[in-house]
Amino acid sequence: MAVYTLPDLDYDYGALEPYISGQIMQLHHDKHHQTYVTGANTALEKLAEARDKGDLGAVNKLAKDLAFNLGGHINHSVFWKNMSPDGGGRPEGTDLAAAIDEYFGSFEGFQNQFNETAKGLQGSGWSLLAWDVIGQRLNVLQLFDQQGNVPSSQIPVLQLDMWEHAYYLQYQNVKADYVKNWWNVVNWADVEARFTRAKGTAGLI
Ligand code: MN
Repeated sequence: MAVYTLPDLDYDYGALEPYISGQIMQLHHDKHHQTYVTGANTALEKLAEARDKGDLGAVNKLAKDLAFNLGGHINHSVFWKNMSPDGGGRPEGTDLAAAIDEYFGSFEGFQNQFNETAKGLQGSGWSLLAWDVIGQRLNVLQLFDQQGNVPSSQIPVLQLDMWEHAYYLQYQNVKADYVKNWWNVVNWADVEARFTRAKGTAGLI
């Protein structure tokens, strides 16, 4: 039985237009995200078979397959919720707004760092705002592919998909416009809720 399943979107494919096209959203959710879900389940099944047979010769490959595909499933699950047709603006007068000021100096400082982190990615990956459980602070990080370059204990609160499949059909090579326009659909209520839950993990590590 499948462990992981594709979550529904909370909005229609075209609901984030004009900032993200319905065509991108449909392919991205139904095809790309589904592939990660299937891949994560397949990796778990093959690991179980390998244990049953007592043949763990493929364990390195399967561990990588699990990390990549489970990473893809987690990243997209957060990403869809991080966006809303009613999004945009910025957090104001909230704990998250205060934390962004504390750790990045200002909202503009945070946004500039996040944008450059996104645009500067070499290859496929994500720009990530994460709560660092051990440092009890917010970090902006580059996530390589679906699973690399981010230490464990960094809980994502806001993340932007910088894989070409996320923007190329609409923006072609103009990454900067995709990144700039994406802020118009950021669901700050969701980001705030994730931030609050992440802070509740104090002492976990
Ligand atoms: Mn993607």
